[in-house]
Order: sequence, then C-alpha cells, then structure tokens
Amino acid sequence: MSQHADIAVIGAGAAGLAAAIFAAETTPSLRIVLLDGAKTIGAKILVSGGGRCNVTNQKVAASDFHGNRKVIDRILRRFDEQATILWFNALGVPLQTESTGKVFPVSNKARTILNALLHRCEELAITRLAQHQVQSITHQGSEFSIQHAQGILQTRQVIMATGGRSLPKTGSDGSGWAHVKNLGHTVTPTYPALVPLVLDDSFFHAALSGISHDVMLTTRVKNKIIARRTGSLLWTHFGISGPVVMDASRFWILATAQGHHVQLHLNCFPHTTHKEVEDWLIQAASRPGRYTVQSLLGERLPNRVATQLAQFLNPEMAQAPVNLLQKDLRKSLVHTLTNLSLPIVGSRGWNFAEVTAGGVPLEEINPSSMASKKVPGLFLIGEMLDCDGRIGGFNFQWAWATGYLAGTSAALPLCPSS
Ligand SMILES: Cc1cc2nc3c(=O)[nH]c(=O)nc-3n(C[C@H](O)[C@H](O)[C@H](O)COP(=O)(O)OP(=O)(O)OC[C@H]3O[C@@H](n4cnc5c(N)ncnc54)[C@H](O)[C@@H]3O)c2cc1C
Repeated sequence: MSQHADIAVIGAGAAGLAAAIFAAETTPSLRIVLLDGAKTIGAKILVSGGGRCNVTNQKVAASDFHGNRKVIDRILRRFDEQATILWFNALGVPLQTESTGKVFPVSNKARTILNALLHRCEELAITRLAQHQVQSITHQGSEFSIQHAQGILQTRQVIMATGGRSLPKTGSDGSGWAHVKNLGHTVTPTYPALVPLVLDDSFFHAALSGISHDVMLTTRVKNKIIARRTGSLLWTHFGISGPVVMDASRFWILATAQGHHVQLHLNCFPHTTHKEVEDWLIQAASRPGRYTVQSLLGERLPNRVATQLAQFLNPEMAQAPVNLLQKDLRKSLVHTLTNLSLPIVGSRGWNFAEVTAGGVPLEEINPSSMASKKVPGLFLIGEMLDCDGRIGGFNFQWAWATGYLAGTSAALPLCPSS
C-alpha cells in the first residue's frame, strides 16, 4: 500500500521523536509520519540512565563530545541544555539536577520522559508506525520513496534518525547507514563506545565484583598519554565498568582497532601524586602500632581492593608489616597503587555499549539545519552521525538538539504561507 507524507522521520528514538514534535509544532498542518522498525517505541529511552533517563547535563559544551567540535558547538548553541530543561517543563516534566551535574526527571523514571514525548506526538497528530522497518529509500525529483516492512511511503522530506548500533535489541541495528550510503553519504568506521571492558581471566577483578571506588585511568599508546579520566570504577565478574571506564573505553577500542598497542593504567589514588603516596607509606612505617600493608591500604581503599592489590604484587605482601618494607618493595607497591597496567582483552561490545563512535561525518551536513549537503530534502540527526558524548546526559542533549534543528528546518519551507 502506498501512502503520502510531507515529512517522514525514520527512527523513533530520542532524536526522531524530538524532530517529529518540533516539525509538527513549526507547521501544524503537515502530515508527519514517524516510522520505526521496532515493535516497541522508545525502548532505549526506558533503559537509559539506569531506568531514570539522564536527559541532559547542567553544563554542556562541545568539549564533552568527540567529533568535529566546531560543528558540534554550532549545533549545541542552537538548542542548549537550558532549552532542553524548558522544553521538558513545557511537556509537563519537571527536571532536577544532581550534584554531578546530571539532569533527571523529578520522578526518577525514564517512563515519564517517554510518556511525555509520546503524548505530545498524539496531541500533534503525528502518525507513529512501529514495526515499519525501512528497507530502502530512493530519491527522485523532489520526492522520496520509502520501502518499508508494510508497504511504500512517498514523502517530500526525510529525517534520518536511525541511531547507531548500541543495544541492537532496541531496534538500533545500524541499518540506517546503508540507506544514507545509497543516497550518497559516507560513513566512517563505527565502534562501541561508553562500554564496559573485559579483563584477562587470570586477573583479580572477579574477587572484587560489586565494589566501586574513585580512580584515575590513563590510556597510553606507544607510551604517549592519549586520555586521562578520573571517576568511579566498578569491578565486575568480567572486568571493569562504571563511568570512568565507560568514558575511557572509546580510546582503548579505537586505538586497538587502528592496530596500536594500547595500555590502560589504573591509579587508585587519583588526587594524590606518586610521591605523596610514597611519603604516606614512609610516615606510616614510623607510626606506633603494628600496621600490615593490608590494614594501612584499607584506610584509603575498600578492604578487598587493598588486599587484592597487595597480593597481586606479592602473595605475602598483604600481611607484611609496613615498617619492614624494603625500599624497592615499597617503590613497587607505590607503582602498583598508582600505575597498574590493566590486562584488557576486549570490550563487552554492542549489546552493552551506550553509544556509537563513528558514523556519518558532520562535514556532510549543514549545522544550521542538519540538512544533508548531498541530497536536498534529507536531514540526518542523532547517534547515526559521527559524534559521541561522554557519560552524563550529553548524548541525549545531542539527540534533542539535532532533532530540534532538523524538525524546525524541515517543516519551515513546507509552511503554506512561506
Ligand atoms: C543502556 C543505555 C543507557 C543510556 N543512558 C543514557 C543517559 O542516561 N543519558 C544520555 O544522554 N544517553 C544515554 N544513552 C545514550 C542515548 O540513549 C543515545 O545516544 C540516544 O538514545 C540516541 O538517540 P537516537 O534517536 O539517535 O538513536 P536511537 O535511540 O538508537 O533510535 C534509533 C531508532 O531507529 C530505529 N531504526 C533503526 N533502523 C531502522 C530502520 N531501518 N527502519 C526503521 N527504524 C529503524 C530503531 O528501532 C530505534 O528506535 C544510553 C544508551 C544506552 C544503550
């Protein structure tokens, strides 16, 4: 069956929902059709932020993202974090900012965000079609023909919002890139980002499963530092997770994929210098009472972490009295505590990644409208573009901002009075 639309939005994730809403608000008379291949719309929004949906951050800057920062900056300026907060308030969703800067709905439920977006789509009479996987898109003259699982849709404008490949069970399987490639775009290599990392089985991580603490992670390629991040690390049965690991993962993954030998070093004393840690051990040796290495480290680290680190260096080290530590062993201990090389063997992959690194280069879109520079009437938004943010609400901010620009820009020229 063939249908007609003024604007077809392909992909009803965060970016697509935002684009459809802003398009309908810009020109209410338009027929806007939102197509999604998944059975359930918004599944990724529901699992985001641990089920609470971290919608934005109190301070968002281009430096929070990887990609062409000049272009990213231009886009973010047009719809910033304040605009997101005001928009959700207008949708009936009050937000709250946590001490980390992350912004969540006051309800602490991602469902509140999804319901508000779906409700607004209904108010604006946007046609929402689940189980409408798009199979091909052709562009002829001023029209697009979209072949989908249930038939064909003819439309004047297309907004591509098919996401990347993170969490493919939600419908984001990367198929959108094949369609935009067919239309003339390029796609840079894509990798899972914001993803937990897997450690060699012989390492001690499994014994620490469930423990989290603040650390600094340094990524080195050929002994050159390429990234340094401080934050909370979570030990797991397979390796490491937590915000600092998720943020560091893209550096390890991209450099490894490029054939480099990459090292990730763990510093369990992130706000302390190497020398300060050594001075602390020296001073502790002269304290009255009998301190073992384990009991001393336990003053500043979770007990199990202290034990494992000491035992890793030397099986008898944990119970060794601090005042009997020889200089060379003390130096080795400081090295283990502040510069431990983690035996990473891989990442948990797309099923556990929060975002995709790589995608359609930002140079191929017009940053004031998200319009394709290759195909008139085509717009590209959200995670399918070569831009990924760090953890903290930045990726949703990207989805809302690009959705806003594409929605308003696609709808404006179709306004009957323009
Ligand atoms: C577990 C998890 C937690 C996260 N938590 C946060 C968080 O708290 N804060 C934050 O900022 N970011 C978070 N993110 C990242 C954020 O969810 C994404 O960056 C954002 O949802 C991307 O939006 P999008 O609309 O571009 O793509 P997606 O949300 O991936 O949506 C793409 C849509 O397109 C559809 N689709 C794909 N191909 C086709 C096709 N061929 N035909 C039809 N439909 C198609 C898919 O079914 C999907 O619904 C999280 C991600 C994950 C996986």
